[in-house]
Amino acid sequence: MSQQSPLRLIPKTDRVLDEPAVVALIERHGRNQVMHAIHSAQEALRGELRSSNGHQPDAAVLMIRAVQLVSRQLDASSRRTLRRAINATGVVLHTGLGRAVLSEAAAKAVAEVARGHSLLEVDAETGERGQRLDHISSLLRELCGLGDDYDALLVNNNAAAVFLAVNALASGREVIISRGQLVEIGGSFRIPDVIRSARARLVEVGTTNRVRIGDYAAGITAETALLMRVHPSNFRIVGFTEEPPLAELVALGRERGIPVLDDLGSGAVIDLTRYGLTAEPTVHASVEAGADVITFSGDKLLGGPQAGLVVGRKDLVQRMKRHPLMRVLRPDKLTLAAMEATLRLYRDEDRAIREIPTLAELTASPQVIRERAERLSSLLMDLPLAVTLETGKSQVGGGSLPGEELPTTVVALQSESIPTVVLARRLRTGEPSVWGRIQRDRLLLDLRTVTDAELGGLAAAIKAAVDSP
Ligand SMILES: *Cc1c(COP(=O)(O)O)cnc(C)c1O
Repeated sequence: MSQQSPLRLIPKTDRVLDEPAVVALIERHGRNQVMHAIHSAQEALRGELRSSNGHQPDAAVLMIRAVQLVSRQLDASSRRTLRRAINATGVVLHTGLGRAVLSEAAAKAVAEVARGHSLLEVDAETGERGQRLDHISSLLRELCGLGDDYDALLVNNNAAAVFLAVNALASGREVIISRGQLVEIGGSFRIPDVIRSARARLVEVGTTNRVRIGDYAAGITAETALLMRVHPSNFRIVGFTEEPPLAELVALGRERGIPVLDDLGSGAVIDLTRYGLTAEPTVHASVEAGADVITFSGDKLLGGPQAGLVVGRKDLVQRMKRHPLMRVLRPDKLTLAAMEATLRLYRDEDRAIREIPTLAELTASPQVIRERAERLSSLLMDLPLAVTLETGKSQVGGGSLPGEELPTTVVALQSESIPTVVLARRLRTGEPSVWGRIQRDRLLLDLRTVTDAELGGLAAAIKAAVDSP
């Protein structure tokens, strides 16, 4: 008797749909999703049978295998892809892992505004229409020590803030900037490209390492609309360097009637040198030096939601507010809720340091991190893993304070049976997803960027990764 093609034994769609386990899956995922999953399971079985070299399979076994494949695929495809992660990399502002973590107060404000209606653009006192930016502009004025002749606004991110400022204030005209500040802030944000696409002409002055006030002065023409300073956030030039202080640039601008745009990048609101960190230009210092428009990120050192903040002379900020691009770049209510709540915490500096995760992590004492590492290692005691505590260095990340190394304690993991890269992948794909870094064939978990509340989940995730079949 000739052998039947084994492919004919692949369970038919109707039969799979009748399996009790699959009926339950239809309840959970809906018929469409289940049909999709059955078709791809059949496809997978075809592949498996073709490569099984004529070995005659058993129909019942194939059905069990089909149901298993359907269930696995539905599990995988119904998991949200934008899920929670535990950042054990020690990089405080990790762009891939979502940069700044919001404070509890900010997260609560977001949830409240998301779940119901809100006072987004109304004035409760008069019952009239209000302005969405009012929720943050007076707070920003207060925190940055700005007078009534200053205004503030918020856009989608700092790249948008710079773009809007250049477009609204210098379109069709010239922007003077030092050659040493023609920086790239990651991927597609290069200052020369931004200026060009904002329809302004870039005028470079000075050299890569040195620029003097006279260079700026010599670059000014009747076409000059802005003098621009960009903080080189993510690198440092050391050695034979020179750059005029911002106040000198401002003085030159005042004398020639040209506004100064200062792109701070991170924009610390608090002076972090008080907590042992290297000086990062603060918004206060820039205001004091007299910059006309200042831009900075919401989710770098500020520790809030992704946003670009602008503070500056009222007439200039008004021009930006009235620009048609403002409607394109305006922040949504969730961002505004998170930003308002974050800025409110800054009214009390101690509270900001305690409650804004970015600031808490940057200023965490080595002792606190050490204790956290000890607690994690004691939670891992029964696992078949070599667990050691070591000193290490955390980074600020997010293009802030380049080269700054913060002393920390890492928990180093190594397994005899599981290669370190496999262990790392299991942790990344687990629930919650866990990210560390590999060094000398060990997985290092830096406890600076892990909260106490995450320790239990982290230990459970490590156990699951070690136990995984
Ligand atoms: C980070 C940075 C930007 C871009 O800010 P985003 O908020 O990421 O858009 C622009 N300029 C400087 C100097 C920066 O450091």
